Amino acid sequence: MSVLIFADQAHGKIKKVAFEAVQYGAKVAQQLGTTATALVLGTAANEELEALGNYGAAKVLHVADARLNEVEGTVFTKIIADAVAQEAAQVVIFGHNFDGKAVAPRVAARLKAGFVSGAVSLPDTSNGFVVKKSVFSGKAFANVSINTAVKVIAVMPNTFALEPTAAKAAVATFSPAISDADFKVKVSSVETVSGEVPLTEADIVVSGGRGLKGPENWGLVEDLAKSLGAATACSRPVADTGWRPHHEHVGQTGLTVRPNLYIAIGISGAIQHLAGVNGSKVIVVINKDPEAPFFKAADYGIVGDAFEVVPKLTAAIKQM
Ligand code: FAD
Repeated sequence: MSVLIFADQAHGKIKKVAFEAVQYGAKVAQQLGTTATALVLGTAANEELEALGNYGAAKVLHVADARLNEVEGTVFTKIIADAVAQEAAQVVIFGHNFDGKAVAPRVAARLKAGFVSGAVSLPDTSNGFVVKKSVFSGKAFANVSINTAVKVIAVMPNTFALEPTAAKAAVATFSPAISDADFKVKVSSVETVSGEVPLTEADIVVSGGRGLKGPENWGLVEDLAKSLGAATACSRPVADTGWRPHHEHVGQTGLTVRPNLYIAIGISGAIQHLAGVNGSKVIVVINKDPEAPFFKAADYGIVGDAFEVVPKLTAAIKQM
């Protein structure tokens, strides 16, 4: 019996969300009196794998197959199900990011397991196995009881602070029987924008809305983001009108981000926008309209013209 955690990686680096999932899984394992095993698919250096021990993984199963460097739902599901069987895993943990969303429901269906996505608490095992998740775009919480033998949980990113130790995990090769025929989708090319902080992994996000008037003014957002080591995001109309690429659109119909700091510039704060950002730890709003709804959700607000406020803020940060 064990707890198995799918620890996803990109370009050989374990993602922050995977460390969070492993730490969560290790705590669940402690609750159940067992150990946590992480599963890494694709090419990754040994020290990356061992570092999963910092977050509580006793063991790491590694499938060092370059065909797995990109997530492919069908084959990932097969491999994870095989690992669950080998480890007699009782609980399977994912991060609730793109990879987790692509794979966790399939694994749950395959294992006929109860599934909670977007978990924000450790399971309460005092009376069954109950996990809290956020619902209605973060407006409420639901306590969900999982009654199946195998349980699948996808952990909401940036919910649990990382508490690394110096422990290292034992790395073992895992060799599932997979062939080319198991890959139902083949990724032929991947475009990556170098130098940018990935939005869903970012600790700080600087986001712009229609108040910035046009794409020619995005230098304001980018300069502030650069000075803070932040990722950039935008409201939906900004992406819809082509001022910014769609992968930066946050909100109900875009990405959900939960950074430690979210700075919203010239964004009104419509409920559909808030749905994607209201899990942020600290929200700073810069808007020239004191009645803008975003101020109600803000921890700090600056009423002023973005074209005056933002350059001053960036200059002050650069001097720090
Ligand atoms: P606006 O509402 O036009 O607000 C611009 C703001 O900039 C105003 O508050 C204004 O006071 C301020 N401003 C103007 N000039 C300046 C200046 N010089 N300095 C400072 N501030 C200034 N929206 C999303 O963002 N994400 C979603 O996922 C999303 N999903 C949706 C789903 C549905 C089904 C629907 C119906 C809508 C959705 N929307 C979404 C759209 C949403 O309702 C809003 O229309 C949108 O968020 C508004 O974008 P905005 O705040 O950039 O623009």
